[in-house]
Amino acid sequence: MIKAIDIHKTYKQADNILHVLKGVSLSIAEGEVMAIVGPSGAGKSTLLHNLGGLDLPSQGSVEFFGQDLYTLPEHKRAALRNEHIGFVFQAYHLLPELTALENVILPALVKNNSRKTSVIELDGVKLLEEVGLGTRITHRPSQLSGGEQPRVATARALMNNPKVIFCDEPTGNLDSASGAMVMDILLSLNARTKQTVVVVTHDERIAKRVGRIINIKDGQLVG
Ligand code: ADP
Repeated sequence: MIKAIDIHKTYKQADNILHVLKGVSLSIAEGEVMAIVGPSGAGKSTLLHNLGGLDLPSQGSVEFFGQDLYTLPEHKRAALRNEHIGFVFQAYHLLPELTALENVILPALVKNNSRKTSVIELDGVKLLEEVGLGTRITHRPSQLSGGEQPRVATARALMNNPKVIFCDEPTGNLDSASGAMVMDILLSLNARTKQTVVVVTHDERIAKRVGRIINIKDGQLVG
């Protein structure tokens, strides 16, 4: 489903070049649940963003069902992401002025289709109920607890029924019970719908629950 071929990522600094990904190649199969683990600064988030079509590699390619993501013009890549790729960001990136429901349904509103907003809202409510937040629909992010915000972000990532969900450190800012709940949601989804889940984590309890672990160290896959 996803094939990364020899991806490199460099950042230009004032007086040197930071080589963050140093030739990463990997394949991810449809329906797989995979964890990317490694020390802080190893390049895990950078890799996730490159695999998910969010951040252009400096060299190499990423194919999504055989389509080279980075030869697509930006608007087409954005449309592909919107339709097929869900992201749960490390900092969640919920829009503060929108309610939980409005945040969740945003990807469906952005998507170019003819569905009525009232129908989309019903789907959004259902998703919020599934993540245990049926009573928080009109809350804004600032009115949600630290354990509730990632669940709204997870519901938003699932809104367009993506083929793959990328999740960056679901337990990063959470107590272990909330982190486990996010993981429960993703794993039960995978069991039901075979959606692919790729999770960046340093949490061994999460890594133990996935089908495959890849280790990254200093920008390279190891082991
Ligand atoms: P990890 O997720 O494994 O902790 P990251 O992928 O976030 O690591 O970052 C890897 C390295 O790349 C870090 O040293 C980080 O400072 C650097 N880095 C990440 N993004 C940028 C950027 N936009 N500009 C410059 N350096 C960056």
